[in-house]
Amino acid sequence: MKECIYCHGGHLKETLVDFDFWWGERLVLLKGVPALVCEGCGEKYFRPDVSEKMKALAKDAAQHESKYEKINVPVVPFGETVAA
Ligand SMILES: [Zn+2]
Repeated sequence: MKECIYCHGGHLKETLVDFDFWWGERLVLLKGVPALVCEGCGEKYFRPDVSEKMKALAKDAAQHESKYEKINVPVVPFGETVAA
């Protein structure tokens, strides 16, 4: 794959990214994941083997939290309401 499927034509650059990953109710931040990132829209693409490893690491982190560094993040309601 050389071109972004979302913005069509965006150049994809191989780089390492940090990626937030929900495993059930747990949010896990994966650091330094190899990805192709679109220079046009910022969409990230992961190789199948990388995706599998991301899932395995997120699962391990959710089940063995004490092995890993932790950060606290603010949880902020946006404050909008939707008409019923
Ligand atoms: Zn794109």
